[in-house]
Amino acid sequence: DESGPAAEPSPWLRALADHFDDHRADYDDLDRRAGDGDFGANMQVAFASSVARAAGPDASLADDLRSMADAFGNDVGGSSGPLLGLVLTGLAEAVEDAGDDDLPAAVGEGLRAGMASVTRAGGAEPGDRTFLDALAPAVAEDGTPLDGAAVQRAADGAAATADLVGKRGRSSYVGDKAIGVPDPGAVALVQVLAAIVER
Ligand code: ADP
Ligand code: MG
Ligand code: MG
Repeated sequence: DESGPAAEPSPWLRALADHFDDHRADYDDLDRRAGDGDFGANMQVAFASSVARAAGPDASLADDLRSMADAFGNDVGGSSGPLLGLVLTGLAEAVEDAGDDDLPAAVGEGLRAGMASVTRAGGAEPGDRTFLDALAPAVAEDGTPLDGAAVQRAADGAAATADLVGKRGRSSYVGDKAIGVPDPGAVALVQVLAAIVER
């Protein structure tokens, strides 16, 4: 019954939604300095919608990822919604068939599939100052699992976007004014990857 009160989502999804509520202004600020200032608002909507679509506190990782993919793909304005939605769709598909022991490898495989979809849809490559600069080093090779070391590579990649001039998305309009400011999409993706590993 869609009119009933929404059930609480799984704890890791709740924690992520809280993170993006608490840091909305910080993400908006990063995007203001290298784009149009709405990235925090877009993520807040994305996670509120993910929570609303979630199956409940005991949802599987695959179900939660599917709820998030649907939320990002359908309920978010801005380029980040559909593009991060493609990553989440790749993840959900890869995790659906995986057993518990295979999860880190399946998540890594799903990220690689999602990365390919994002490049096809948005035309960006690593080095263009997008969330791909966090994603690509995390799962650099076929078979790279998503583990703590991969999250650290993603965090290093996100931090390094501060030195990049944008070639895709709105940051490409501001040129070297974005130097010193990390790409908000990359910073946000690190949070999502860390939450998946730690859940
Ligand atoms: P908009 O620029 O439409 O306002 P958002 O602010 O929601 O979109 O999202 C901005 C983020 O989207 C950037 O930080 C970047 O990581 C990501 N992004 C933008 N364009 C692309 C692209 N072509 N490929 C991959 N990621 C992109
Ligand atoms: Mg924006
Ligand atoms: Mg916008």
